[in-house]
Amino acid sequence: MQPILSIEGISKSYGSIQALQNVSYEVPQGAVFGLLGPNGSGKTTMLSIILDILKADTGSFNWFGKPGSPETRKRIGSLLETPNFYHYLSAVDNLKITSAISGRGNDQSIDEVLKIVKLFESKNSRFSTYSLGMKQRLAIGAALLGNPEVLLFDEPTNGLDPVGIAEIRELIKELAKQGKTIIMASHLLDEVEKVCTHVAIMKRGKLLAAGPVDEVLANEDIVELASANPMNLKTAMTNFPGYSSIKENGELIQLYFPIGKAPMEDINRYCFDNGIVLQQLILKKKSLEAKFFELTND
Ligand code: ATP
Repeated sequence: MQPILSIEGISKSYGSIQALQNVSYEVPQGAVFGLLGPNGSGKTTMLSIILDILKADTGSFNWFGKPGSPETRKRIGSLLETPNFYHYLSAVDNLKITSAISGRGNDQSIDEVLKIVKLFESKNSRFSTYSLGMKQRLAIGAALLGNPEVLLFDEPTNGLDPVGIAEIRELIKELAKQGKTIIMASHLLDEVEKVCTHVAIMKRGKLLAAGPVDEVLANEDIVELASANPMNLKTAMTNFPGYSSIKENGELIQLYFPIGKAPMEDINRYCFDNGIVLQQLILKKKSLEAKFFELTND
């Protein structure tokens, strides 16, 4: 299937700061695509480029298989900065103004949008009376006007309390279920893991990895082994089937297995059959945090 968005070799500098360096990836249709990276890694710059707000120095991108045009822009809804809603107006009146200015949606679709973002019941309350979470849901509602196929959100849960965060994450999953493709920037690994199907990991303007979340952020089981003679142990274990990598960590030998696939009893028996008596046999789960740290650390 043709990707919704393909990015090819995009670079962008602000004076001497290189915000993006030769970044390429594809966003498949129907994905919830997380752009993951610490502050300053270039996420907002990339979102601005693919929305034609900023121009890349080099590289190109295609939406729906074509270079961007006003027509393709109508198929994309975005929330980069909190829109300037009028505090003294209701949700419905604010969206009427947004709709009139942007030319997206109509009065009937405003009610539909308010239902999707769960503000229909309070649609006539003044914006100033809304909680932060409700304000953010209204901002997402504004991005939904005109029923775009693709949604771009920059740090959509930033600054919200835990309830507000949970509501926005649920809303994003709900929108994905309805068939929208969603691209969202986040600096939270946990958020990307909970919400996204795909991820691109950025660090200082460089792409570190991209692909399905369960591949890129694959959790692994680590088995730690120790015996009186670590070299013998390592040599013997290289012939053991099924591990993905083997490492030495001081006196310890570490075997990495896909999650849930570490055969502890088999390892124990194998060592004994090979004349090795283990002093230690421990199963450790590698946390995603550790993996992210590894990926984003120098
Ligand atoms: P954040 O979440 O903090 O916005 P980010 O991952 O979105 O981070 P960008 O905002 O794209 O990253 O910034 C990438 C780099 O470019 C940073 O070093 C930032 O300081 C720099 N930068 C961004 N915008 C400008 C600008 N208008 N002028 C100069 N430098 C900029």
